[in-house]
Amino acid sequence: DVKTSAQAIELEDKHGAHNYHPLPAVLKKGDGVFVWDVEDKKYYDFLSAYSAVNQGHCHPRIVDAMTKQANTITLTSRAFHNNVLGVFEKYATDYFNFDKLLPMNTGAEAVETAIKICRKWAYEKKGIKEQDAQIIVFENNFHGRTTTIISFSNDEGARKNFGPYTPGFIKIPYDDADALEKVLKEHDNIAGALIEPIQGEAGVYTPSDDFIPKVKELCQQHDVLFMADEIQTGIARTGALLAVCGKCDCQGHCERQDATYSRPDILILGKALSGGAYPVSAVLADDAVMNVIQPGQHGSTFGGNPVAAAVAMEALEVVRDEKLAQNARELGDLFRSELNKFIETTDIVKLVRGRGLLNAIVINDTEDSSTAWDICMALKENGLLAKPTHGNIIRFAPPLVITKDQIMDCVSIIIKTLKDF
Ligand code: PLP
Repeated sequence: DVKTSAQAIELEDKHGAHNYHPLPAVLKKGDGVFVWDVEDKKYYDFLSAYSAVNQGHCHPRIVDAMTKQANTITLTSRAFHNNVLGVFEKYATDYFNFDKLLPMNTGAEAVETAIKICRKWAYEKKGIKEQDAQIIVFENNFHGRTTTIISFSNDEGARKNFGPYTPGFIKIPYDDADALEKVLKEHDNIAGALIEPIQGEAGVYTPSDDFIPKVKELCQQHDVLFMADEIQTGIARTGALLAVCGKCDCQGHCERQDATYSRPDILILGKALSGGAYPVSAVLADDAVMNVIQPGQHGSTFGGNPVAAAVAMEALEVVRDEKLAQNARELGDLFRSELNKFIETTDIVKLVRGRGLLNAIVINDTEDSSTAWDICMALKENGLLAKPTHGNIIRFAPPLVITKDQIMDCVSIIIKTLKDF
C-alpha cells in the first residue's frame, strides 16, 4: 500500500511509461470541487481532469447510477443489444437535438469516428473522388493522440518520430475566416472542417465572437461538414451547453437555431459526458450524415456499454438539474473580472482570457520559461491545483458545481500566490 506521495511517485517513475509530466500531487480522494492528497492535504481542483469533472468529483447521483448498473450488467458488446443503450441514445439525441448518436469511449476515438464519417459522407454523398477528400484543421489544434490525429498537429513534441503521417488534412490559421474562405474557394475536394470552438490545450485560446458563426456559414455555403470538437468546451464548461451555442441562454437545452447558435453537422463529445466517472465519448449527427455508417464499418468493444450509457445519462441530467451552464457563466464572469482588476496592479500576468469557467492567465514570460510551472507549484502549496498548458499559460477550470464563496476564496489564493512572483 502507498503511504506517502514520494512512494507513489517513485512507483510510477520506475514502473510506468514516462508519457506525462504531472505536478507532484498524489490524490487519493475527491468530493465536489475538492481533492485530497495522500498526506490529507485538501486542495481546490482547478483542472477538473481537463474539464471532465464538470459535475464535481464523485457526484453521488452519477456514482449511484454507475454502481447500480455495474451490479447488473457491465458489458454486452454490440454483438447483442442491451437495455440501456437505446434509452441513452434517445435521451442524448433529444438533449442535443440531433437524429443519431454513435457511442465511443475516449475523446480521440470520437474524433477518429468523426473523421471517418466525414470522409465516407464526402465520397458517398458529396461525390468527391475516392481517396481525394481533404479535411480542414486549424493551427495549434489539439484533438487527441492517435497517429492520424497527431498527423495534423503542429506541436512538434506530439508529432516527432511518430511518422509516417496520415494525409488528407489542410491546416490553416485559427480565428481567420478569410483563410478558411480562401481554401474553400481554391479546392473542390473539401469534406469537412474540424474545429475546437475554443482551443483548450493551446491555452484557452478564445477566438473573436464572429469566428465560429462565420466558419459555420462558410461550411454551409461550400457543402462542407462543420465538425465541432466540444470534448473540452462542451457540456456547460463555457457557460452554455456547448461553446457553439455562443452566448445563448439555453440553460442546458439547446434547440435554438438563431444567430448565436452555430449548429455543427457533427458534434464530438467526451470528458464531462460522464462527469469523469467513466470513459464515455460520442459523435452526434443527423441521419443524412450518420447513416453513411453501416454494420461492420465502425465500432468498439466497450463503446455503448450499459455502464457508460447509464453514467452519461445521469451526468447530463445533473448538468441540467443543477443549472451548471448558468453557474459557469455567472461565476466565470466574476472570476475574470476579479482577476482583471488584479492584473492592472501587476506585471506578472499579461492577460486573462476564457469563457464561462474555462479560463487561463498568460504569464508575462517566454514560452520556454518555467514560471507557469513554478506558479502552479506555489498554488499547490497554497491549496489549489492547476496545470500549465505551455511554459507561460495556466488554465483555470474548476468543477462547475463551485459556489460563489468558493470562487472568491480561490481568487484570493491565486492573487496571494501571484504577488510572490
Ligand atoms: N479534443 C479535445 C478538444 C481535447 O481537449 C481532448 C483532450 O484533452 C481530446 C480531443 C482528446 O480526448 P482524450 O484524451 O479523451 O482522447
